[in-house]
Amino acid sequence: MKKLIIEVRMNEAARKEANPNVPYTPDEIVADAIACGEAGASMVHFHARNADGSESNAVDDYRRIVSGIRARSDVLLHPTLGQFFDGSGPDQRMAHIEALAREGLAPDMAPLDTGSNNIDAFDWQAGEFIGDGAVYVNTGANLRYMAGRLREWGVRPQLVCWSVPNLRLAAAFIAAGLAPPSSFTTLVLSGERALVGHPATEAGLRAYLDCMGDQPMEWGVLCGGQEIFSLMPMILREGGHITAGLGDTPYASLGQPTNADVVRAIAAVAREAGREVATPAEAREMLGRQLQPA
Ligand code: ZN
Repeated sequence: MKKLIIEVRMNEAARKEANPNVPYTPDEIVADAIACGEAGASMVHFHARNADGSESNAVDDYRRIVSGIRARSDVLLHPTLGQFFDGSGPDQRMAHIEALAREGLAPDMAPLDTGSNNIDAFDWQAGEFIGDGAVYVNTGANLRYMAGRLREWGVRPQLVCWSVPNLRLAAAFIAAGLAPPSSFTTLVLSGERALVGHPATEAGLRAYLDCMGDQPMEWGVLCGGQEIFSLMPMILREGGHITAGLGDTPYASLGQPTNADVVRAIAAVAREAGREVATPAEAREMLGRQLQPA
């Protein structure tokens, strides 16, 4: 059976108050990423954070993270683009990726969220919206521009789909040569408070898969705000991959786990179902290569 790529969603905006093992500083992210690789992860996704947990867009933090992990692990590196609520343009959002690429430290992958989405959550018990009406804007022009820059730098896009229309755009990007065949395509599911993804149920995932058809993509499932275990039998059976970690939810069913503990738990379930985990080298092979610069 196809091997399973486990990507770790290391921190996102999660807080240590929820689980003290959420990594914030570059040193914490480096140590955690190396442990995750040893536990069976082949890719890590991270947001640079300051010691107080606030978001960092400092190139130096990303440099320390990338060079620190590369010195001791060959896991694929997938930093965020960040800065999406302050009106930053695509060049600002990719400034750290560009700086790293120019220094010969290009990460393996960077995210392209293939569509714009309303991101307010909803508290069903209180009957109230959480948030002030924010929209995560990803215009077609900006996405095409960013895809071109990533191609220039030899960085693969991860096509992040929050809904079926986003998946259709991702498929169009591959067809148009803006993203390579076998692109890692993330299907976003979200717990009941976050309305932006498909429901974190088999029906929510089924809707993506029914619409995906035989598109040339390697797909993974992201489950925001909820543990991924209940969906694993379907993901494993259908040939998908997994992108999960303390950035999504504290994974309290495992006690107070580290990201590496979450990876070990996912890998154990996968092996039980007959899917061995992919090494970073095998993940690179499965995901093919970025297109040559245009
Ligand atoms: Zn992220």
